[in-house]
Amino acid sequence: MKILSGIQPSGQLHIGNYFGMMQTMISNMESSELYVFIVDLHALTSVHDREKLATGTLEAAADFLALGLDPDKCIFWVQSDVPEVCELMWALSTISPMGLLERCHSYKDKVAKGIAPSHGLFSYPVLMAADILLYQADRVPVGKDQKQHLEVARDLAIKFNNQYGETFVVPEPAISETTAIVPGIDGQKMSKSYGNTIPIFLEGKQLKKRVMAIETDATPVEMPKDPDNCNLYKLMQLFADKERMEQIHSLYVNGGAAYGYLKLELLDLLNEKFGKAREKKKEYLSDPQMLRAILAKGADKAREKATVTLDLVRDRIGLSY
Ligand code: ATP
Ligand code: MG
Repeated sequence: MKILSGIQPSGQLHIGNYFGMMQTMISNMESSELYVFIVDLHALTSVHDREKLATGTLEAAADFLALGLDPDKCIFWVQSDVPEVCELMWALSTISPMGLLERCHSYKDKVAKGIAPSHGLFSYPVLMAADILLYQADRVPVGKDQKQHLEVARDLAIKFNNQYGETFVVPEPAISETTAIVPGIDGQKMSKSYGNTIPIFLEGKQLKKRVMAIETDATPVEMPKDPDNCNLYKLMQLFADKERMEQIHSLYVNGGAAYGYLKLELLDLLNEKFGKAREKKKEYLSDPQMLRAILAKGADKAREKATVTLDLVRDRIGLSY
């Protein structure tokens, strides 16, 4: 079973990324052929600051390693180090129906949030399809926000196979129901580009400030509250154990849930869960040459796989004359 997923170095990685994708990927390390990559070409659709993109890429790599990804047990690389993906993207874009891409809501959401409506942003799903199909992935663990893009990848794989003969594995999404959409501190989907995140590696006062800023309603402490419509409750659910969550649930429905105290409890849980990883991240970042060496080795392994698929594609479509 080949499992693949990527993450954009478009800002500090956050707990939505962790629960939506990183945790699942790391837990699949022993049992699958695992492909994990930092998709810097995708991040170019929203980041046009060279320094920010370059340091973001190294930081994202350090994040994964600090959280426990073992580069010897997977293929771990930076997308742009295997530019073959761009050639496959072009081939796929020539069979991508405009209507299929025009229906993608991620593009519309990002434009509504002020990201420039470039051709790159519009064709983001085609590059993502190329990522997945190039490595012949069976499963792609993602958050719910990427479900539609996965559909595009499947449609393009099926279309290509029908048109040119069996070439690509048709990938399946893997979306965990409980962590499908982690809310941000404002209640919308937590997203790097929305500025509403709780970054995994934030600490101290800055982290406290972010947690205390989680938006809640103005219901007085003693009044009953609706847990299903509460951001803070949804975030607590990701960290607190079952027994504690039952107590919190009863405080919500019967009255007595004090948002301020619950936020402090969430802060403790965050520190407990990510404290050690934060220290490890600092160690990785103190040696960028070692990080680059790990990524270069990963890129070699990825390119070997990519070349096999790309040779086949070139032959299928008539680029090998
Ligand atoms: P951007 O705002 O730049 O798009 P992002 O925060 O949405 O950044 P991505 O790099 O686009 O992060 O996504 C990486 C992975 O994390 C994807 O699998 C995506 O589905 C998942 N993911 C992102 N945000 C969430 C979220 N709030 N809840 C669950 N999964 C998420
Ligand atoms: Mg995103």
